[in-house]
Amino acid sequence: MTAQIISGTEIAKQIREELTQEIAELKEKHNLIPGLATVLVGEDPASQVYVGQKDKASQALGVYSERHDLSADTSEQELLALIDKLNKDPKIHGILVQLPLPKHINVPRVLFAIDPKKDVDAFHPVNVGKLMIGEPDYLPCTPCGIYQLLVRSGIDIKGAEVVMVGASNIVGRPTAMLLSQEKEGFGGTVTLCHILTRDISIHTKRADILIVAVGKPKLITADMVKEGVVVIDVGVNRIGKTESGKAILVGDVDFEAVKEKAKAITPVPGGVGPMTITMLMLNTVKAAKLAAGLA
Ligand code: NAP
Repeated sequence: MTAQIISGTEIAKQIREELTQEIAELKEKHNLIPGLATVLVGEDPASQVYVGQKDKASQALGVYSERHDLSADTSEQELLALIDKLNKDPKIHGILVQLPLPKHINVPRVLFAIDPKKDVDAFHPVNVGKLMIGEPDYLPCTPCGIYQLLVRSGIDIKGAEVVMVGASNIVGRPTAMLLSQEKEGFGGTVTLCHILTRDISIHTKRADILIVAVGKPKLITADMVKEGVVVIDVGVNRIGKTESGKAILVGDVDFEAVKEKAKAITPVPGGVGPMTITMLMLNTVKAAKLAAGLA
């Protein structure tokens, strides 16, 4: 079997075109411009790249973007004061604090200070709770991207055996919660594997849909999956550099071998990655609509 390659690049492009149109309409009909503030503390090179990509995406789509770059020695109080200011700013509908934060800053305290209505990452306990009870305002960006990849590739989740490997608060757990909802378009029977799972291959072998978010190259090999599985590989691992100095990226799945057994599979790069930032844009538009009473 040769797998269908699920292109996150293509699907993200499709969604961005839809969003560009929606943003233009919001401006024209309601004089509403969605606004996103990004906050970066310190000079972590990967974080600088991510924040840069988010600002670029905002500008390309017509979202008002405000970037706050703070020095690594910014105190927690200073950061909380900035969040308070952004919470009160009517131009800003979404606030994103880039993680990781420097060690002297208490991450939960900072994330919990963001107004849940502006929490476009959906990390605030209010939004985590709303997802848990099936009433989300926002879906966390990576799980939402995974969902869109499945749905827009015509993969039926209802009744499927879904195995989620990796149980982080930002990917694995919310994805498991999202796909197991007993609602139209969802309805997977989800198994959540984590570091204490005795033998993940027992579970991965019976997956109709296998999602992997761990951060270990070749964690999933061909002998661990069944014929016809749909594989979503969230992992991003830098395994070296090309001669021109560009990072070589691979996922958590042995792509070349597993694609011979899979019905469909996402590549790394070009799979989940492009979706995550696009979902941030989607959430920012939703936040602006909620603030204006249009959603
Ligand atoms: P994380 O916070 O490190 O979580 C990884 C999870 O996998 C943890 O629950 C970890 O348990 C668990 N784990 C570790 N080894 C395992 C094993 N052998 N079997 C089963 N579970 C295991 O990472 P994350 O933030 O979820 O990210 C996971 C990967 O996805 C990373 O490579 C990250 O770069 C990538 N990612 C990509 C995107 C994107 O947009 N493409 C977005 C987010 C993340 P312990 O915590 O107990 O070790």
